[in-house]
Amino acid sequence: MNPLIHQTATDLVELMNAGEVSAREVVDAHLERIEAVDGDVKAFLAVDAARARAAADAVDAKRRAGAPLGPLAGVPVAVKDIFAYRGLPTTCGSRMLEGWLPPYDSTTVTRLLAADAIIVGKTNMDEFAMGSSTENSAYGTTHNPWDLDRIPGGSGGGSSAALAAFEAPLALGTDTGGSIRQPASVTGTVGVKPTYGATSRYGVVAMASSLDTPGPCARSVLDAALLHEVIAGHDPRDSTSIDEPVPPVVAAAKRADVRGMRIGVVKELGGDGYQPGVEQRFRETLDVLEGLGAELVEVSCPHFDYALAAYYLIMPAEVSSNLARFDAMRYGLRVGDDGTRSAEDVMKLTREKGFGDEVKRRVILGTYALSSGYYDAYYGSAQKVRTLIVRDFAAAFEQVDVLVSPSTPTTAFLIGERADDPLAMYKADLCTIPSNMAGNCAISVPCGLADGLPVGFQVMAPPMADDRLYRVGGALEAALTSQWGGVLTDQLATREEAVR
Ligand code: GLN
Repeated sequence: MNPLIHQTATDLVELMNAGEVSAREVVDAHLERIEAVDGDVKAFLAVDAARARAAADAVDAKRRAGAPLGPLAGVPVAVKDIFAYRGLPTTCGSRMLEGWLPPYDSTTVTRLLAADAIIVGKTNMDEFAMGSSTENSAYGTTHNPWDLDRIPGGSGGGSSAALAAFEAPLALGTDTGGSIRQPASVTGTVGVKPTYGATSRYGVVAMASSLDTPGPCARSVLDAALLHEVIAGHDPRDSTSIDEPVPPVVAAAKRADVRGMRIGVVKELGGDGYQPGVEQRFRETLDVLEGLGAELVEVSCPHFDYALAAYYLIMPAEVSSNLARFDAMRYGLRVGDDGTRSAEDVMKLTREKGFGDEVKRRVILGTYALSSGYYDAYYGSAQKVRTLIVRDFAAAFEQVDVLVSPSTPTTAFLIGERADDPLAMYKADLCTIPSNMAGNCAISVPCGLADGLPVGFQVMAPPMADDRLYRVGGALEAALTSQWGGVLTDQLATREEAVR
């Protein structure tokens, strides 16, 4: 196995800049790894080896010519299949978009390419980003590299699994209710939901537009910051994009110091329903933070208890409206158009065939919540709860610099375990949803193992204070790594050895 796959993006950039290794060698190492393990992990829906190699050669040629290079020059990146990227299909995990080739690049992809990053492929996800396990993908489930019988989280399970399997050092995700942080948590990787509006939604297939937030996935806090700085920033093509400078996240990740910081422990996120091992790691991590000089304060956010319920009204309402565009008329799948049927019948047949059960469930729920006579009772009430959550955060951030909680109540569950129980599946996002509802930023960093599986620690900060996430995340990572060597090991290598 090529040792290059175990390097961080930061180290790879350094090695390439020092001339010790070429972009082509870096990319080849990762493509070989994908070849070797992705049959088991199934993180990727599409790999474009030829284009990745050509792009790597172009970076090497630029370097030889002494031309200026972007901050991610030669670094392989795996892209969630929700981002439009010309030349590869964007399926969003759905039959509805099977084989659809986007005619343009998402802003995030444009920025990645401008940074000279190498896109190696598109990763698996729950259909239209709805789910917490990738089991809702129309193209099969991704497997958690820590235990192939377990889920890698969702909806961005493919991106996080690709990192944990060392198939790429960086990946892109989107977080509407937790789809970056929960997969990061259960795969022992780092995932960041930036402030809503700090990363562009242009060219990202819409799920729930008031919540959708693209963000970075990585194996180290500094790597996540590097990617964050490349993809964030104002985009005139997104009407909710924030026109402010990107917070200094890379500097914060390097500073990695929590001395004098006030850290609020959210009372409502923990206790009953949380796996004992998760609670235990969480408490120990609080001790670590205190040992590093942070001041811990218990904080109450009483309306967080209603966040999940309100999310499952607001999100489906937006889903039902956003997914109306898949009408068989404009693009994507078209079923039954044999010249005998009305447009309406073709729409019905197409939506029946093209959407999976979870997507249909949410479209029905959302349409109901928005229907006249029920609008005020459901959607209107949920919006009021959303305001109360925003106020809880605002009050808490008057007392503390950041808030913390476990990232998700349990470690990776078994594939199939919650497939027939939507409510159990929804609970995976209990801790992550409040930040989507309020639009603030949050990170999940690995904080150890419970029963042999990774546990994530969540840090939440006010809008546009994303640098605080990286300060705390970086400090924790450094402290935990020196305490017990860090959590992320090459599980597949261990497995290969065990097989041998
Ligand atoms: N798991 C959550 C859901 O199913 C979050 C999805 C997401 O963030 N895209 O809605």
